[in-house]
Amino acid sequence: MNYFLLSITNACNKSCGYCVVKKWLNNPEYPDKAAAADYIAFLEKEMQAGDVVELTGGEPTLFPGLIGMLEWLKERGAKVILRTNGALLDEWRKSYPCMVVALARHDSDEAYMEERKKCLLPWDLTLEMTKDHLDETRDNMDKPVLNDIESPLKTHPFKRMFHITNDGKVRFMSCCDEDMGTIWDYKPRNYWCCPECAFALGAWNLAARIK
Ligand code: SF4
Repeated sequence: MNYFLLSITNACNKSCGYCVVKKWLNNPEYPDKAAAADYIAFLEKEMQAGDVVELTGGEPTLFPGLIGMLEWLKERGAKVILRTNGALLDEWRKSYPCMVVALARHDSDEAYMEERKKCLLPWDLTLEMTKDHLDETRDNMDKPVLNDIESPLKTHPFKRMFHITNDGKVRFMSCCDEDMGTIWDYKPRNYWCCPECAFALGAWNLAARIK
């Protein structure tokens, strides 16, 4: 089984002080270079039914090709994780039961969250993390991933993991800067996925919520 973490856009409607991708957000020096069709062409070659594909950003609902990607992923039997602040989250979410949404509050108020929650399915979750929590956990690689959800599963099944950024670059994971080329000229490597990888365990526990 494979895990794909796709940071599909650097666009975001917020500017959280603790944001781990703050340097790149809404920055014209780091524009989105890959379109939905580029990601799909790569996944067509590397993804299998049952694989986990996590969509993040920036704010992934601002990515123009999001719905097209979700349609393709649903057809191909992927399990999808959508990490969002809810910017353009709407009734369309209910068309994708193969997906779990992690809706983060950040600085949004109660009325905003209540509206977004109406679009969620029972296995989705809201992340009520405060600025203090995020500041505290940013220095600890385990906590941001493992503590934002209940994580009963302590192992994951992933044999290959990919972190792909909005410029099309393919890396092994955020913690490893190994150059694996781009989605247009991917260079396979020998994989060894740490069984205790916090990124993989966080994703697997999220994907396991899908009913
Ligand atoms: S909503 Fe998320 S991506 Fe956007 S600024 Fe805040 S932490 Fe960063």
